[in-house]
Amino acid sequence: MPTMYYKSNAAWPNYHLTRGTFDPGEGKPVMRIASLAVINAADTIHDSGLERFAATATTLFGHLLTLESQLAGSPAPFAAGMVGAGWSFSSLIGTPVSQLLCEGLSDARMLAPAERHANCELPADYIGLAGGGTVMKDLFAWAESLDRTLLTSGSFLGPTIAGGFATASHGSRLGHGGIQNMVLGMHLVVGSREHVWIERKSCPVLSQAGLDRLTTGNGVKVRFVADDDQFEDALVHLGAMGIVNGVALALMDNRKFALMQRMQVLTPDWLKDIAKGDFKSIAGQLGCSTEPSFYELTLNPRSPFDDGATHTLYFPSSKSQLAPAGPAYITSPADAIASLGLSIFQINVDMLEEELNLHSWAQPNPIPVSVLRRLFSGSDSAFTYYCNLKDYETIDEPFDPEDPSVPAYAWSELHKGGITSGIPGALYNASFAIQLERVPDAIPLLCAAVAGLPPAFVFTLRFVSKAAGTLAFTRFDQSAVIEIDGLSPLICQMAQSKVAASNPQAPVILKALNELSGTLKTGAAAIRTALDDAGIGYSMHWGKLGDLDQAKVYADYGHPQEPDSLIRRWRETRDALLSSFGKRIFWNEAVISYGLLDEVK
Ligand SMILES: Cc1cc2nc3c(=O)[nH]c(=O)nc-3n(C[C@H](O)[C@H](O)[C@H](O)COP(=O)(O)OP(=O)(O)OC[C@H]3O[C@@H](n4cnc5c(N)ncnc54)[C@H](O)[C@@H]3O)c2cc1C
Repeated sequence: MPTMYYKSNAAWPNYHLTRGTFDPGEGKPVMRIASLAVINAADTIHDSGLERFAATATTLFGHLLTLESQLAGSPAPFAAGMVGAGWSFSSLIGTPVSQLLCEGLSDARMLAPAERHANCELPADYIGLAGGGTVMKDLFAWAESLDRTLLTSGSFLGPTIAGGFATASHGSRLGHGGIQNMVLGMHLVVGSREHVWIERKSCPVLSQAGLDRLTTGNGVKVRFVADDDQFEDALVHLGAMGIVNGVALALMDNRKFALMQRMQVLTPDWLKDIAKGDFKSIAGQLGCSTEPSFYELTLNPRSPFDDGATHTLYFPSSKSQLAPAGPAYITSPADAIASLGLSIFQINVDMLEEELNLHSWAQPNPIPVSVLRRLFSGSDSAFTYYCNLKDYETIDEPFDPEDPSVPAYAWSELHKGGITSGIPGALYNASFAIQLERVPDAIPLLCAAVAGLPPAFVFTLRFVSKAAGTLAFTRFDQSAVIEIDGLSPLICQMAQSKVAASNPQAPVILKALNELSGTLKTGAAAIRTALDDAGIGYSMHWGKLGDLDQAKVYADYGHPQEPDSLIRRWRETRDALLSSFGKRIFWNEAVISYGLLDEVK
C-alpha cells in the first residue's frame, strides 16, 4: 500500500526559483509550505498499471480525508495544490498551506489486452499507462526500452507528464500538437472518496474489466466519463481538475532522427516559407532535401536579418543501429542563458578593461559595450554568447540523414533531462503563441519593439499544429510560439550582491546589472504591446512569465459570463468532475489571478 509522509513548514523552491522569497538559511528563494505531502508508491512495483492507479488513489483518498477535516476547522479557505517537477515559473505551483509533490506517482506499464476496449483505435501494446508524476525522461526511457516512443515533448525531458500537459507544454514536432495530444485517458482523484476515469467517447480506451481494476482498496468504484468535449476541457487542467493520478498515452514505434544544427542568415522570404508551413523548403535552403520532423529557429532580436540565426532540425533516419548514439549535446537557449547567468555571477569587477565614469553614462544610453563584454565573458550580447557555445555547421556541405557518418538519435538522446550548465534561477522565459501565417509580420515588429533594450535575450520560434485541449494557449490551428529567453532579475540581483561597494568600478557594474534585471520584464511587455498594436492575435504560456492577467485571458478565451466562453465550459466540466470538497481545494494562485476561477470563499 503506498504511503504518504508530510514535511512541516518545509522550504520548497520551484525549478527556476521564481516563487517565494530569498531565505538566507537556504541560500535561495523558497516558499514555506505548512504541510508538504510526499507520496511513495515503491511497494506497488509488482502491480499492473491500473492496479497501481487504484493503489495510489486509495492512499490519496486518505490524504484528502485529512485535508477535508482540516478545511472544516479552518477559519479561511485554502488551496491544496499539486506539483509535478516544479518547472513552471508562474504561480500555478506554490500553495502555502498544503502542497502535494506528485513525483512518487511515477511508473509506466503497458495496458493489458483484457483492459483494452474492443473499439479502441490502438492495440494494447501501443498504450502506455503512466503515473501522473512520471518524469518525461523516465517515460521515454521506458518506451524506448520496448522499442516504442512518444510523439513529442518540450525541449527538456525534466517535467512530469501530468505537469507537462497541464499547461499544454510543447516542443517543435512539425505537424503535431503538444504533450496533451498524446493523452488518451485520465484517472483523476477528485475528492476524498471519488475518482473518475475520463476518455473521449469517440476514442474508447478501457474495457469494463479495465474500469473494474480501478476499484480502490477501500471499495470505491471509479466514475466513468466518456465525453469528447469534457475530455478536451480536462486536458489543460492547470492543477484545478483534481489529482492526475495516472494517464493512458498513445505510443508509437521507436524511430531515430538525424540532427542538423546550422547557422544561416535569415531573410524575409525565409519567414514567408515558415508562414506557409513549407519546412521542406527551409531544409532545402540549409542543404537537405528531406522533409524535417522538427525545426527550431533562434535569432538575434537586435539584428534578425543581418547576423546568422541558428537552425535546429531533426530528419527521420531509417538507420536501426544496435548501439545508442549517445546524447546529442544540443545547446539550447535556456542552457546558454543559465551559463551566461553564471558568468555574470562570477564577474570580477577588478578586471574591467577600461575605466568608465558613471557620470558620462547618460540615462537613456544603452549599457556600454565594454561593460557588456565584461559581464558576458567577452560577448557583446546574449545571442553572441549563445552562438559561441557551439561550432555550428554552415550550409556549404549538403546534409544526408542517411549518410553512414551521420548519427541516428532516439528522441531521448536529443532532449536533456534539465539544464546542465550555469546556475539555477538565471533564466527568464515568456512564450507567445501566434498564428503561423503572421510570422513574417511579427518578427520584424517584435525586434523593433525591443531594439532599445540591452541585448540580454534571444528569440526562439517553435511550431505546433492542432493542439488539443480547450485552454491550450497554442490555440490557433497552426501556431508559431515565439519565446523570449534571457537573464532573470534574480541572477542580476544575486550578482549585484557580490559586488563590493568599495570597488571603484562598482557603480558602473551595479548600474548595468540594475538595468539588466528589468530588461526581460520590459521586453515581454514590449512584445505584448507590439502584437496588440499590430492586431496580431496571441496567447501566452500559462506556466511562464510575462504578467499574464485576467483581462488578456478573457480577451483570448471569452469572459466566463459569455455563453460561448471557453472558460465557461472549462468551469462547467470542472464542476461536473470534482466533488464539492474538491472544488474548494483544487486551485492555485494563478487560476484565480487569470480569472479562470472565482476567488474561493
Ligand atoms: C528550463 C525550462 C524549459 C522549459 N521548456 C518548455 C518547453 O520546451 N515547452 C513548453 O511548453 N514549456 C516549457 N517549459 C515550461 C514547463 O514545461 C511547464 O511549465 C510544465 O507545465 C512544467 O511541468 P511540471 O511537471 O514541472 O509541472 P509543474 O510546473 O510542477 O505543474 C504545472 C501544473 O500542473 C499541476 N500538476 C502537476 N502535476 C499534477 C498532478 N499529478 N495532478 C494534478 N495537477 C498536477 C500543477 O498544480 C500546476 O498547476 C519549460 C520550463 C523550464 C523551467
